[in-house]
Amino acid sequence: MDNFKGNDFDLPPEVLDQIQENIEEIIKSFPIAESNKIDVIKKINFMYSRTKYMSVTDPLTGLYNRRHFENTIEREFLRAKRYKSDLSIALIDVDFFKKINDTYGHLCGDYVLREIAYLTLENFRKTDMVFRYGGEEIVVILTETPSDKAIIPLERLRKAIENYPFYYDGNSMKITISIGVEGLKEEILTPEEFLDNADKSLYIAKERGRNQVVTSSSL
Ligand code: GH3
Ligand code: MG
Ligand code: MG
Repeated sequence: MDNFKGNDFDLPPEVLDQIQENIEEIIKSFPIAESNKIDVIKKINFMYSRTKYMSVTDPLTGLYNRRHFENTIEREFLRAKRYKSDLSIALIDVDFFKKINDTYGHLCGDYVLREIAYLTLENFRKTDMVFRYGGEEIVVILTETPSDKAIIPLERLRKAIENYPFYYDGNSMKITISIGVEGLKEEILTPEEFLDNADKSLYIAKERGRNQVVTSSSL
């Protein structure tokens, strides 16, 4: 998998939350006119929401970013283990994406990524979460969903992308994706192992000719 090079913003979310919670107290002690304090608080609240949004999203696609994925998978993994609930993870990789960049340029590649992000978001339930994992890789966490059920929306997405009329700067393109899915099982002990299993299935999907969904339970 590609290394993710996100933005450099790195203030721990807990610190931000603490500042936010105490903002009225902090501002009270500021040497500014009482009448300005409401405005200052409003501005800080706005900056807080914007910073919070930026810290969890990827600027190109608007999807949740890799950092948010790491936090979320840790939490969902522990929750599913504790309550013995179903959980699936899907790793999506665009087929021959380098060729799109090489043939039509990087901006066209960016366009394709944004369209794929949009189609992916549109395809899943509100309770499922979609993240940009790396360059042209997307990861979806499907809560309360075993892998045999996860395959249904994933197949639907695969077909939607295969049939989508990608069009950029006068060029029509056919794009496909490969997907590796893993359902949580007793013997999976860490979130890393869980993701790694999905990655292994993705690798098999590539090997078998791409444009397909592979899950370890059907191998
Ligand atoms: P495969 O079917 O085996 O996945 O082939 P591939 O060409 O998709 O795989 P590879 O990993 O070689 O290429 C991924 C490419 O994604 C290379 C990199 O330049 C491109 N890429 C990564 N991030 C971005 C981005 O933000 N925008 C654009 N346009 N391209 C990106
Ligand atoms: Mg890749
Ligand atoms: Mg690829």
